[in-house]
Amino acid sequence: MSNPIDNGRRKFLKTGAMAVASIPLATLLTQRTAKAQSVPEGAADWPHAENGHAHNYVNDHTTTDHSRYQEGQQCSSCQFWVDNVDGDWGYCMHPSFSDVLVNANGWCSVYAPAA
Ligand code: SF4
Repeated sequence: MSNPIDNGRRKFLKTGAMAVASIPLATLLTQRTAKAQSVPEGAADWPHAENGHAHNYVNDHTTTDHSRYQEGQQCSSCQFWVDNVDGDWGYCMHPSFSDVLVNANGWCSVYAPAA
């Protein structure tokens, strides 16, 4: 006969191991989804985002004094950046920028480094 405490402990360890193992898979799926994102049709005609559009956005990352900004961060290296559309202007898939193009040299406070 097995000890009920051992069974509970075994179940806890098994669940924990499965949770830890699923983290890299979730990360991979998120990255794959981002890479699969394409520029919407007609995006070349969208207006360019202005400073302050959302999340403290600026067109030139060197001009922000936001506390979250770290040197080297800019739209073109962000996880939400998809591709250039019109010169330095490109498509950002973050919902707050769904109808404007952002500048490759821009930055906003939801910046997340691309993997
Ligand atoms: S989410 Fe990223 S790509 Fe989009 S505006 Fe902010 S910093 Fe730029």
